[in-house]
Amino acid sequence: MIVLKFGGTSVATAQRIKGVADIITSMNLRGNTGVVVSAFGGVTDELIRMSRLAAARDDEYIIVFRDIRDRHLKTVKELGLHHDKKLHHFLEETFSALHDILHGVYLVKELSLRTLDFLSGHGEVLSARIIASYFQSRKLTADYLDARTVIRTDETFGSARVDFSITNRNIREYFRKRRGVVVITGFVASTGMGEMTTLGRGGSDYTAAIVGAAIDAEEIQIWTDVDGVMTADPRKVRKAFSIRSMTYEEAMEMSHFGAKVIHPPTIQPALDKKIPLVIKNSFRPEHAGTYISIKPSDPEFLVKGISSIDKISLLTLQGSGMVGVAGISARLFNSLSLARINVILITQGSSEHTISFAVKPEDAILAKSKIEEAFALEIRAKLIERVRVENDLSIIAVIGENMRNTPGVSGRMFQSLGKNGISVVATAQGSSELNISTVIHRKDLDKALNSLHQALFLSDVKTLSVFLIGTGLIGSTLIRQISKHRQHLREARSLEIVVTGMANSKKMIFDADGLSLQKYKELLDSSSEKMDLESYIRKMHGMNLSQSIFVDCTSDERIAASYAHILSQSISIVTPNKVANSGSYAQYVKLRDEAKRRNVRFMYETNVGAGLPVINTLNDLLSSGDRILKIEAVLSGTLSFIFNNFLKGTSFSDIVMEAKRRGFTEPDPRTDLSGKDVARKLLILAREAGYKMELKDIDISQLLPASCLKAKSVNDFFTELKKNDGYFEQLRNKSSSKGKVLRYIAKLDRGKASISLEEVGQAHPFFNLSGSDNIISFTTERYHERPLVVKGPGAGAEVTAAGVFAEIISIGKYFE
Ligand code: ADP
Ligand code: ASP
Ligand code: MG
Repeated sequence: MIVLKFGGTSVATAQRIKGVADIITSMNLRGNTGVVVSAFGGVTDELIRMSRLAAARDDEYIIVFRDIRDRHLKTVKELGLHHDKKLHHFLEETFSALHDILHGVYLVKELSLRTLDFLSGHGEVLSARIIASYFQSRKLTADYLDARTVIRTDETFGSARVDFSITNRNIREYFRKRRGVVVITGFVASTGMGEMTTLGRGGSDYTAAIVGAAIDAEEIQIWTDVDGVMTADPRKVRKAFSIRSMTYEEAMEMSHFGAKVIHPPTIQPALDKKIPLVIKNSFRPEHAGTYISIKPSDPEFLVKGISSIDKISLLTLQGSGMVGVAGISARLFNSLSLARINVILITQGSSEHTISFAVKPEDAILAKSKIEEAFALEIRAKLIERVRVENDLSIIAVIGENMRNTPGVSGRMFQSLGKNGISVVATAQGSSELNISTVIHRKDLDKALNSLHQALFLSDVKTLSVFLIGTGLIGSTLIRQISKHRQHLREARSLEIVVTGMANSKKMIFDADGLSLQKYKELLDSSSEKMDLESYIRKMHGMNLSQSIFVDCTSDERIAASYAHILSQSISIVTPNKVANSGSYAQYVKLRDEAKRRNVRFMYETNVGAGLPVINTLNDLLSSGDRILKIEAVLSGTLSFIFNNFLKGTSFSDIVMEAKRRGFTEPDPRTDLSGKDVARKLLILAREAGYKMELKDIDISQLLPASCLKAKSVNDFFTELKKNDGYFEQLRNKSSSKGKVLRYIAKLDRGKASISLEEVGQAHPFFNLSGSDNIISFTTERYHERPLVVKGPGAGAEVTAAGVFAEIISIGKYFE
């Protein structure tokens, strides 16, 4: 004998009900089978709404009533039962009784819990009766059982308690005389006086367990709309997956801590009789679902699941008068229990100075006043403070038997919360070690669930969510690189890079599942969302994905100005945009502080020398205890190209023109030739080396004659430059006559920063440069005789994007 229960979504429409009949038929059941059903999906909510409207004398109640009735009649028709006279008679009588009571509520403007139970419980009465008729029409031997005739409860309307001795006897008695399928109303029961009661919202699961335990069923199957109990609530954690098997205790903890898939009291009757509970998906009957039994589960993962209670309040009692005094907590919890307030979690500091406990928000005010009443004397004597109430909190519980005796789970848990910038308000571990609970701010809930899920179940594969701004040369190259190497990263490094947001100057697009890296241009073009920096940031924050990285591939000042704000939202930043780091020193410090405070990464290796390891090398030297004496560098790919090619037989203006033609310069080459860009890079190096410096402290000796700088347009500039070709030729001839070449060198020498055109001889490391090479030479205490030199291509979209990509990947490592 087995008992099956089909929840609201499994019987929401005629189509779904047919599916249920198919499932039952295909099981080829022999002997008795109990089929407990819920109300059609959504009907209980509507019945409650209708009742409240009536009590509020809102005439809309009658509309809701008619909608509910019409929905049932329509389903009956669609099931082909319109000729079933008995069924129609039953429905007519039921709706007429409901209407009468409802009208009474409307007249007296009062809705007692008792009346509400009567009205809200009828969803099950209707659905079970209709489904029984449908089964009969499918030639299944099926009876209808109104659970009110067998399940006996007390008079706690809304959440009645079962009298098992009477109930079990009734159920056994009933089944003794039956053969075949019995369709049973879930959720409802009755008192000894025949008053209708309900078993609490979600209580149809409980009905199935009560029936199953009474008849010693071999198995109780709960059919719902997901593949069993999942590692987390699938509505909140998209990567949740179904758990193959678990123990009753684990299932109990999961459901107590909010996993709606099983109604909490359901487990006890099954456990008492050791009847396996199987949770299955009526939309995918072939899936095995979750098997709940006494058998300890196979240790696939250290934890089984993560649940949450979304809304709680935390109350704290504290004061010097609590230390070493026996019986304080007894008095505290006694006062709560007298007021019938359920305590969800308790934590006590080891100093005994404070006790905090969580209750439902609706109980918080009553709890506070009851406790203050109980401790009135101590409060008056100032031995104990008034009870502190914190609202807008949630509890996350990590559950699993394998956590017992396995160190490290809580470490991993808190590390993951910390890395994602989620602060922990309180924490408690049950003595069974079956559950570690953490109180956090409600606004962090989704992010916390996702990052814990990632850390505890998917730590093998880490996901990074990239929010990119700027799809120009560097941005589009980066997208191409990610798209090309993604699979390799997934397979070889267990790293999943998902681009979850993108924007160009006009439009923006988002997708938490990842945007197409092939079709992003079309997606951006056709997007209806205009680019707006503030809404981009708001959206990125709102998506609340764990391990989010903001990648700025622009040179926009306004975007750079929002970095501190973005970091403060616990989002890491990778940027080739050097504007932020070369702004004011105060801002430079603030960005680092913010990143540190939020435990996120701020990475900008590509600010200097594109993909070359310049900043990392500098930082490695410093953190290993070395001291920087001097930095000399050619930091501009553009200027490097110009001077490397300014050889005998060429004119300076021709070379600049050539550089521009090849796309090596900014649209106005003076941006490069003025030394401004080099100055920003040198400033960043100086700051990294520990100098508190501003841009104006850098001494730039101008390369260009004044007339070139003054020219109004780019064309005028070239005309002026041509006129000055003689001047540059003279400079070149002067140096070549000494066997030297010209190099535009940035220098940091004992705290003094300067940029100037210099002549270097053959012995100098900067003599042999080619293409658009950058070169950076560090003279340090250790590298004193011969400086440490980093040299290579220091400009270009490919190498810059590769540098950005490398930093994104390195953040993946940080989250390990
Ligand atoms: P039914 O109407 O079948 O009783 P419920 O809506 O009561 O269905 O419960 C199933 C729902 O519970 C799922 O659709 C899912 O959204 C939610 N849920 C919350 N936590 C979990 C979890 N850990 N595993 C599975 N489902 C969960
Ligand atoms: N129909 C009831 C509810 O929605 C009981 C159940 O479905 O389990 O709460
Ligand atoms: Mg349910």
